[in-house]
Amino acid sequence: MVRVNEDALAIHGGQPINTKQLVWDHDSIGEEERDAVLEVLDSKMLSEFQGVHGPKFLGGSKVRELEESWSKYFEVDYAVSVNSATSGLYAAVGALGVGPGDEVVVPPYTMSATAAAVLGYNAIPIFADIEEDYFCLDPVKIEEKISDKTRAIIAVNLFGQPADLDAIMNLAKKYNLKVIEDNAQSPGARHKGRYAGTVADIGVFSLNYHKHIQSGEGGIIVTNDEELATRVRLIRNHAEAVVGDMGYQNPVSMLGWNYRMTEIEAAIARVQLQKLATLNQRTIELSNYLTQKLKPFDFLQPPQTRPGALHVYYLYIIKYDAQKTGVHRDVFLRALNGEGYKARSYNFPVHLLPLFEDKNLYGDKGCPFSCPFYGQEVRYGKGLCPVTERLEFEEVFFPGLIRSRIEEKDIDIFADAVAKVYSHLDELR
Ligand SMILES: *Cc1c(COP(=O)(O)O)cnc(C)c1O
Repeated sequence: MVRVNEDALAIHGGQPINTKQLVWDHDSIGEEERDAVLEVLDSKMLSEFQGVHGPKFLGGSKVRELEESWSKYFEVDYAVSVNSATSGLYAAVGALGVGPGDEVVVPPYTMSATAAAVLGYNAIPIFADIEEDYFCLDPVKIEEKISDKTRAIIAVNLFGQPADLDAIMNLAKKYNLKVIEDNAQSPGARHKGRYAGTVADIGVFSLNYHKHIQSGEGGIIVTNDEELATRVRLIRNHAEAVVGDMGYQNPVSMLGWNYRMTEIEAAIARVQLQKLATLNQRTIELSNYLTQKLKPFDFLQPPQTRPGALHVYYLYIIKYDAQKTGVHRDVFLRALNGEGYKARSYNFPVHLLPLFEDKNLYGDKGCPFSCPFYGQEVRYGKGLCPVTERLEFEEVFFPGLIRSRIEEKDIDIFADAVAKVYSHLDELR
């Protein structure tokens, strides 16, 4: 039963229901991180990386301790730290040897870096549409996009749960492709008992300041493949200056960058990792509570968890049904936000960014889209991924509540705000 609230909507001059500022919760940064940072500062050794073959190629003690802790925690053979997940994605694409003329299948509903990493190697991102209810790459749509140029798939574990990794790994086997998991949003999530990010050939985590655990900026690449681990380490740290002395035999795409993490970030990240399970547990508890509270509202579908998965709610995404209310999502959100929220949709679909509409990445040369090694036309733009476009522009939103500094009573207040807007649907129509 929805409690009727006839008080005037805040957008029509009434009092807003919520008066609390909802901000990202960074309280997990505490004394332990402070101590870890001071220890590094006292050592006066803020980085120990050198872009040369030898012991310093792998960085300093904090970086190595973090990588060891990370590989143990996530039950993988290799963890390689980098300065962001974006760098991690670039390194992963390079490690797979992707290059001009190759295609990589990516979802359009993600952060732009997922597709940019492909362009970084002069390869072509091919967008496949997403699932209606889990919002990750749809394996059926992937298969439709596979061609003789396809080299890899980047599966994004979006909003806090794994993509359909069984189906995606089966496609990879069938067509002899490699798979990268972009796991920036799902640290600690599970795919049938395995950690999300560790199922595919190579996985990338983020440690930026709005992810579950953070070091300000940072990222971690994981893999069980020794050769891929070597390659991402080379790309992280000036490969071209190292491969000769190292005697590395396969330097394809081995132009290096400086993607190195500092000792301070590594020290913070190591402490944060110890807090991940507890933070996730509380996030899941609050999310489940919100799901209970939304039950009376049949026009709001709470996040659906894939069978066999553990969801860690990077974003608590709600699907809105305008058929049931007769009010467009954006009108509903304007009224809801008037009551003291900053609810919004997720992210402009990547395939509609100007870069893909204009295809003038490297001036008027047309690369990589009209690269002679590619030798065909690639189409982007509106209508390419209709599910993504409908979800983003009409159906999904997140209230900005979960992973803010909240308690159960703040969720009660949110449910009251939804009930209030619901009571006024007539005047919004
Ligand atoms: C945050 C994010 C990234 C990029 O992470 P950075 O560490 O900020 O570079 C990549 N992909 C997805 C899906 C993300 O959410």
